[in-house]
Amino acid sequence: MTQAPTCPAFTLLPEERRHGFIVRRVEQIPEIRVTAYEMEHERTGARVLHLHCDDRENLYAIAFRTPPPDSTGLPHILEHCVLAGSERYPLKDAFNELLKGTLQTFINAFTYPDKTIYPVASQVRADYFNLARVYTDLVLRPRLLKQTFAQEGHHFELADPEDPGSDLIISGIVYNEMKGAYSSPESLMYKVLQEKLYPDTPYACDSGGSPDAIPSLTYDQFKAFHRSYYSPSNAYWFLYGDIPTADHMIFLEEMLAGFDRVRVDSGIASQPRWDTPSIVRGDYPVGKGEGLQKKTTVNVGWMLSENTDHETALLLQITAGALVGSAAGPLRKALIDSGLGEDLSPVTGLERDLKQVAFAVGLRGTEPEKAQPIETLIIDTLRRVAEDGFDRELIEGTLHQVEFHGKEIQRGAFPYGITLMGRVFHTWLYDGDPLAGLNFPRLIEAVRIRWAENPALFQDTVRKWFLDNPHRLLSVMEPSPDYLDKQESSFKNRMSGIKATLPADAVEEIRRDAEALKSFQAQADGPETLACLPQLNVLDLERTVEKIPTERLGIGGIPALAHELFTNGIAYLDLAFDISDIPEDLQPCLPLLGKVMANMGAAGLDYAQMAKRIALKTGGFGSNLSAGLLADRETGSGREAATARPLSLSSPQEGWKRFSKEKHWQKMIFSVRALHRNIGEAVNIMADVLTAGDLSDESRMRDLLAEKKNRLHAAVIPSGHLFAKRSAGASLSVAACRDEQWSGRTQLQLLAELMEAFGDRKEAFRDKLIRLKDLIFRRERLTLNLTADAEGIGLLGKATESLLSRLPGGGPVGLASVPELQSRDAGVAIPAQVCYVAKVMKAPTYTDPLAASLWVLSRQLSSGYLYKHIRVQGGAYGGMCQYDPMNGLFAFLSYRDPHLLSTLDVYRRAVDFMTKEKISAEDLEKAVVGAIGSLDRPMDPVGRGFTAMIRVFAGLTDDDRQIFRDGVLNVTADQLQETAVRYFTPAAATAVVAVYAAEERLIRANETLPSKLTIERLP
Ligand SMILES: [Zn+2]
Repeated sequence: MTQAPTCPAFTLLPEERRHGFIVRRVEQIPEIRVTAYEMEHERTGARVLHLHCDDRENLYAIAFRTPPPDSTGLPHILEHCVLAGSERYPLKDAFNELLKGTLQTFINAFTYPDKTIYPVASQVRADYFNLARVYTDLVLRPRLLKQTFAQEGHHFELADPEDPGSDLIISGIVYNEMKGAYSSPESLMYKVLQEKLYPDTPYACDSGGSPDAIPSLTYDQFKAFHRSYYSPSNAYWFLYGDIPTADHMIFLEEMLAGFDRVRVDSGIASQPRWDTPSIVRGDYPVGKGEGLQKKTTVNVGWMLSENTDHETALLLQITAGALVGSAAGPLRKALIDSGLGEDLSPVTGLERDLKQVAFAVGLRGTEPEKAQPIETLIIDTLRRVAEDGFDRELIEGTLHQVEFHGKEIQRGAFPYGITLMGRVFHTWLYDGDPLAGLNFPRLIEAVRIRWAENPALFQDTVRKWFLDNPHRLLSVMEPSPDYLDKQESSFKNRMSGIKATLPADAVEEIRRDAEALKSFQAQADGPETLACLPQLNVLDLERTVEKIPTERLGIGGIPALAHELFTNGIAYLDLAFDISDIPEDLQPCLPLLGKVMANMGAAGLDYAQMAKRIALKTGGFGSNLSAGLLADRETGSGREAATARPLSLSSPQEGWKRFSKEKHWQKMIFSVRALHRNIGEAVNIMADVLTAGDLSDESRMRDLLAEKKNRLHAAVIPSGHLFAKRSAGASLSVAACRDEQWSGRTQLQLLAELMEAFGDRKEAFRDKLIRLKDLIFRRERLTLNLTADAEGIGLLGKATESLLSRLPGGGPVGLASVPELQSRDAGVAIPAQVCYVAKVMKAPTYTDPLAASLWVLSRQLSSGYLYKHIRVQGGAYGGMCQYDPMNGLFAFLSYRDPHLLSTLDVYRRAVDFMTKEKISAEDLEKAVVGAIGSLDRPMDPVGRGFTAMIRVFAGLTDDDRQIFRDGVLNVTADQLQETAVRYFTPAAATAVVAVYAAEERLIRANETLPSKLTIERLP
């Protein structure tokens, strides 16, 4: 398994004609083990790129160039609507059916500023072609029903359908999705920069749609946009994986039958260059009670080279990396050290998803009057760099980062094929060479040669593209407490204006249309319609769990786990310290310990010198905290119950007693990754940080805490549902309580208090960190986790021995600390136009006999009842439930939701529905296929090694996993219904609600809620 694969042999030659295609080019890229085929479909002119390799997670993606003509959200609304159904698959929502009933490992659609991409991926060949077949038909031949347009885009409704005198409102999924996006300071900041840097191009419009403009889009414009741009002649197919190229050609030949070449004018003009810099001011919403100090963000942005000039773009990427990519970068350091703001602006960096590359940098947490000084500081620093040159090691470190990340096999939330696709489109979409960005060793070599010839190469780049480039924009984003009120009242005026001019029968028509839409949405697709989708059978599914190789070793007397995997020459090391006995007063400080240790000085080096060393020798260094429930072994009944007597072991009451005996685990994990040649030095860095970390630099500590506070604060609106889940879950298990303390509002509160009076509190705070450091970084608490090929594991083992000799002993792990868990319903006031509603209950762990059927049930609820009532009918961007056996929670969640009370009603009715209705045989089959798909998410090597370690901590064996999988595969409709009755009835007594929404919404909700929300503000 660990031996290195190579590029697949050539199967086609350049200029070869087959299956209606002509092969334009064939090339091998050894570093990523890919053989690339660039082809053209001769009749339609469709472009196809296949990256053939040995990865069994095949990716199929169709992209179109879709420059938006205005900000009505045309490309985005179309992206939502094509996936509803086609003539061949005349469903109401084909996308949702594929999502729930296939083995897809990725299924989505993306609207960019200039393109729309429809990717699907699967590890199973038959499933892959099923998905590709349906996706292609949906995209090329959608039905685009008027009802779908109304549902996804926008439509009028009466606030109270019974009362013709009530207000006119607008509903629509994209409309609410974009209202959420327009509440996020980061999105608004990014939007202003893009629109104002490229004012004479399609980038001046919002392809996602501005909530103001969306309602003016007409159905005819919408249909016309599809006719113009969704033709094979305007399409780019990106294919990746181990399916042979010729099989793709045969499939695509069939898909493209009936299409001819048409002329499509989708070219994107370049933005003409400015001769003088410009300035723009904008605002973003903050809560009414929030102070306005340190809430402004200042950015300076430049428009740079054409993306198709890949060599220059790469030079700019390296220069940008050296300037701001690490804490040692001179521009980053000058900005942070200046004290002009709290931390770097979140839009800092190079942007390559546009025709002309852009770069932006700036400060967050500042004041409007500091905009000019910030711009001056940036220019002065660049001038100094252009004159004095870069520190050589900074450039070397950046080159190392490019090499490392080009080589690393990454599969986080996205398949690896998606990462490669992103690099391809940087050039391909603008008629450049699609492979230009993939062959990174060759690219780095070319840069090195140029650098050797001209030692001032990077200084020259700074001069030409930054200092001597007047296409520059200063952007000042200020907080506005009445932003949302103003929007609300202008919307109300607009609606009452429209309503006043409408004749009485038009109001009646709106009411009738809205009602008709609701009843259209309420009708399910008939069984014959659903049967048109190709469907895998449960019997086709893999029965056995996939095991991650795990060898238990001892290194220097310390327990170690080793996972021998092919990692493309990279080694991964985790050091997991037991923190379950850390006293309660110190627990909330743990995330800060991790942040500070990983980013300050050590072993006589200051933070910038350490940052340089980390960039030069590692591919990443950091820490995280993890907690969970231990698999329940005490009752010993899990196994027998699941196999012999499913669901009939105990009464619900007995079940609850069992949950209350739960045990938990908690770890602080430091991780580092490195190329084989750097393993020794990478482990030394880890040892220096843990044993010789220096916490004396106060201003650095303050900057790091400010950065952490701002990042956590900025995460709230984009992931409001997760924050709400944490708030509600905190009282339900120790593990969930830690999640809230470490990553939720509680953590934000701690940071805000600390930063408010840092001068007074820093001593006490530093003492806490030192206490924690002395307590935690000891041999007795440690488990090592090694992930690499055989050679890498050998090198890691050797390097780790010297680390262990430096780590002090003593300090055995004491009794677990258990926090007091207090349950209350919470309302957290945030400046947003939409709500995030969570209701969370206690739930069993993996080894419980109910677990497998609860897993299937949660998927069925998510994609069935909740999807239909919260998203389709309610207009929210998302409505779902999550069963989290690791933390012992079951959560109902809504995302970017226009409703609050009625969403809580839907949660109640969902439980009723599941306990009263029996699932049909067809739905059960889909639910099981989808549930197995969700268990079989592919992972990258580092993810596999890490997951195997977490399973060991949770006490979860491969046998347990097999029993769970068997439970999913064999579940019956009766069992699902019985699980609903047996789980939800007692669980309801533990339910806690948390809502993140605007304060007025929370106050209004409390007027009717039987159990009042305790309202608190976001710090
Ligand atoms: Zn969307």
